[in-house]
Amino acid sequence: MIFTEEHEALRKTVRDFVEKEINPHCDEWEEAGEFPARELFKKLGNLGILGIQKPEEYGGMGLDYSYNLVAAEELGTAQCGGVPLAIGVQTDMCTPAIARFGSDQLKREFLAPAISGDKIGCIGVSEVGAGSDVAGLTTNAKKEGDDYIINGSKMWITNSPKADFICLLANTSGGKAHSNKSLIVVPMNTPGITFSKHLNKLGMRSSETAQVFFDDVRVPQRNRIGAEGTGFMMQMVQFQEERLWGAANVIKALEMCIEKTIEYCRERKTFGTPLINNQVIHFRLAELQTEVEALRALTYQACELHVQGKDVTKLASMAKLKAGRLGREVTDSCLQYWGGMGYMWENQLSRAFRDVRLVSIGGGADEIMLGIICKLMGTLPGKRKE
Ligand SMILES: Cc1cc2nc3c(=O)[nH]c(=O)nc-3n(C[C@H](O)[C@H](O)[C@H](O)COP(=O)(O)OP(=O)(O)OC[C@H]3O[C@@H](n4cnc5c(N)ncnc54)[C@H](O)[C@@H]3O)c2cc1C
Repeated sequence: MIFTEEHEALRKTVRDFVEKEINPHCDEWEEAGEFPARELFKKLGNLGILGIQKPEEYGGMGLDYSYNLVAAEELGTAQCGGVPLAIGVQTDMCTPAIARFGSDQLKREFLAPAISGDKIGCIGVSEVGAGSDVAGLTTNAKKEGDDYIINGSKMWITNSPKADFICLLANTSGGKAHSNKSLIVVPMNTPGITFSKHLNKLGMRSSETAQVFFDDVRVPQRNRIGAEGTGFMMQMVQFQEERLWGAANVIKALEMCIEKTIEYCRERKTFGTPLINNQVIHFRLAELQTEVEALRALTYQACELHVQGKDVTKLASMAKLKAGRLGREVTDSCLQYWGGMGYMWENQLSRAFRDVRLVSIGGGADEIMLGIICKLMGTLPGKRKE
């Protein structure tokens, strides 16, 4: 992947934003279990960071996905994972399908204000009984005149308590599970929508997560993205960018863990010598840095082919899998070298250890990534293509 001056300028803009607007407040926001999303998103919108890859017609920068990747990578320098996650939901999880398949009206009503930072979005796929098994979801949208009447609930929805709209995957007919679903954009102030209290999470504490309930929620059918019954397919496409974003966002976060651990191990002495002088430690950190470079190469390769318009389902799934697995390995190993300090709640390694754990679960667990990779390798039993 070759980065131009424009990539580097964007990288600097995002990096400066993280240093000035996010990092000084991370401890406070983590403690509070929320951050001022409306204020922060408006500032990001003013800089164009919420619409890097989105069409200029709706206020975006009209750049290709490689610029998005650079922004995701730099957001990884935040000293908490929760705020970047909330931003990633807005840019790469709840708006790609609207941008790619939505009507002009939907784009004007929801995409343009999501790009300018005037509206906050969330993505509603998972349910209490259907996380990995997306096809098994039961929230339904029944037609009544020109409207849909929505009933059901969505679980673990990031940004939902402050969101203005949800990009909702629901069953719009009783047909086969992969062809009976539609993506519908639902304004969150529609009567019949209620929330659970904030869910108490292991990590990503500064992002807000809740369960969302739909009780006879009426929305016009024109709020559906694309054709009826194509929602599952569109969500699978939308997942590609979510997974690439997730992988890119982890790279610098893991490098920071390694750098901070090196600094700590230079200072901390045991048996009269700095910890870093133990070969078991400096070798391990070198090995982890090598693995991070491998993750970077894989993620860049997936991104480059995605920019060329190729189907990167396999590579994006591999990058997401590797990011989750490596995230656990790096944070666990680094935390170990911080000893008792690493076990303290406020310690940055402890926070990274808790935050990064989500990567192996959210947006498709590691095992789901393995299933997709196997399917595309032709090794999934019963699915083999000769
Ligand atoms: C902090 C947080 C934020 C989230 N934000 C959102 C959001 O904004 N929007 C949204 O829609 N969802 C969101 N999610 C939900 C997330 O995507 C799901 O938790 C995830 O897809 C896993 O689903 P599940 O929890 O139901 O796990 P399950 O489907 O119950 O699976 C449990 C575990 O079983 C294993 N497993 C599952 N299936 C298989 C299999 N076939 N073979 C082998 N092993 C398997 C995996 O290890 C998996 O982790 C969020 C979750 C969290 C924790």
